[in-house]
Amino acid sequence: MPDHEPDFSKIPSLDRLLQAASAISLVESHGRAATTAALRRALDRARAAIAAGDAIDLSEDAFVQTAGAHLERADVPGLRRVFNLTGTVLHTNLGRAPLAEDAIAAMAEAARGASNLEFDLETGKRGDRDTHVEELLRELTGAEAATVVNNNAGAVLLLLNALALRKEVPVSRGELVEIGGAFRIPDIMARAGAKLIEVGTTNRTHHKDFIEAIGDRTALVMKVHTSNYIVQGFTTDVPEAELASIAHGANIPFVVDLGAGALVDLERWGLPHEPTPRQTLAAGADLVSFSGDKLLGGPQAGLIVGRADLIARLKKNPIKRALRCDKATLAALASTLTLYRDPDRLAERLPALRLLSRTPADIRTLAEELCTTMAAALSEKFAVAVEDCSGQIGSGALPVETLNSAALVLRPLAARGKGARLKRLAVQLRGLPVPVIGRIHDDALWLDLRCLDDVDDFRAQIDQLTTP
Ligand SMILES: *Cc1c(COP(=O)(O)O)cnc(C)c1O
Repeated sequence: MPDHEPDFSKIPSLDRLLQAASAISLVESHGRAATTAALRRALDRARAAIAAGDAIDLSEDAFVQTAGAHLERADVPGLRRVFNLTGTVLHTNLGRAPLAEDAIAAMAEAARGASNLEFDLETGKRGDRDTHVEELLRELTGAEAATVVNNNAGAVLLLLNALALRKEVPVSRGELVEIGGAFRIPDIMARAGAKLIEVGTTNRTHHKDFIEAIGDRTALVMKVHTSNYIVQGFTTDVPEAELASIAHGANIPFVVDLGAGALVDLERWGLPHEPTPRQTLAAGADLVSFSGDKLLGGPQAGLIVGRADLIARLKKNPIKRALRCDKATLAALASTLTLYRDPDRLAERLPALRLLSRTPADIRTLAEELCTTMAAALSEKFAVAVEDCSGQIGSGALPVETLNSAALVLRPLAARGKGARLKRLAVQLRGLPVPVIGRIHDDALWLDLRCLDDVDDFRAQIDQLTTP
């Protein structure tokens, strides 16, 4: 504590500050309320500093400048574009799939004004918002009917609540998955009001296990695609077609949570095989649920396709109403699905697929082009090299498959304090106008360039880097 009384008398008044010419221009660009609040904040800080015995600049200009800087920062939107150079293409924390230009335009169009969201233009009567995607989903999956909710976790919650409330649902112990923290099959099952019956063991579940698990109280048989892990070694599971015939033998539906939900066979683009909703329905599933923003490459949504009578039951459930999609989402989803009608041009038009199918050679060429610029910016403290690396599809899709790629690798030159230097560099990259998100690994910062699209913006930013 200071040994004399703090002197607040030199602090200018709020009224005086608001009359300064520079403050008037702040009011013009940010409004009176925000400017007043920012000046008050600067004054409060000055009082606290004086009380703590710190010497500070008490000129009007200094206050207005502090307030101006605060207002500038507050104007930067919290949700911002970033460069995803993590190597994980469908990164949940970074927003998963980038949307196609057509989908973005459709979203903007739907957002701008009124639309026929729930209005039948032919009859002039009330319509159903699902109609905008249902026909496309039927065409692309071979299903009788379809419905859409906010995300796939919501889709699973809805179908369990609508079809299995206060009843039992047998699931193999090998499929009791947790996806990204809060989505756990046992928890969703409980919240949906259904009783989970664990079947078999973690590594082996047999036909007879399911037969024994089914009784009077069984509502349906469920299979969960183990998206983000694999069970390997001494394992057995019951194939979909067999599960379907077990369920149908007991007169109950067979439903599959497919997770990533690639709509087409990705092997065509050199990617690993992932089961499609069409194949799963053909194997006998009555309902299949999957995400809109994973391998499908669209907006966040949960899609359910399958038997018309079951879809009708889902649509009547209040949870469907609570989890319904927004018009902009439906517009983007319909537009994304339309692209699937022309698989030959899909990799050109769907950014998620374009990024996933980029060749390592192309990525390396890009990395080599940028290496000199990066080295010029960082050469004093970091060695910059192009190296092969392996990335991931992400979102739990195909967890053990890696995507061969190339990265700019930034290694500290100093022998000591490497960890701290790398952390500072990562902070600096995140502080750029368009934050750059890389990955620290093996005493280096790796920037996997698979997802780098806007090369000019990226290059322009590197020039602003100063070696930390
Ligand atoms: C990703 C995933 C979910 C959750 O889907 P969201 O669209 O993220 O809500 C559910 N089940 C499986 C098997 C998944 O892979």
